Amino acid sequence: MMMPRRKDRLYCSFCRKSDREVTELIAGPGVHICDACVRLCNGVLEGKPGDGFAGWDSLTDRQLLGALPPSEASVEAARRVLQTQVGVLRSRGVSWEKIGAALGVSRQAVWERFS
Ligand SMILES: [Zn+2]
Repeated sequence: MMMPRRKDRLYCSFCRKSDREVTELIAGPGVHICDACVRLCNGVLEGKPGDGFAGWDSLTDRQLLGALPPSEASVEAARRVLQTQVGVLRSRGVSWEKIGAALGVSRQAVWERFS
């Protein structure tokens, strides 16, 4: 039997709050980020301590275990985006060397990973 999908509920990929618990949820390819996490990120970039997400240690075991499947799904989605982007570049004749350079790895490493 298929797992029931909570199709109308989206979650912040960083703090795991649902779209109902946050003011704004911004979508990227396979990921979402809430307004509080954006503010936290801005604070980090400005070198200020954040007042939003208290860190993974603040979650209970159950909350953290519940956060694993959506996190893994985000990783899988990001991997598919990366694979697709590399596929498009390869179809345009862009060399493995250039793709490797963009990712900061060797031509050999990128070839083994994506070919
Ligand atoms: Zn968030």
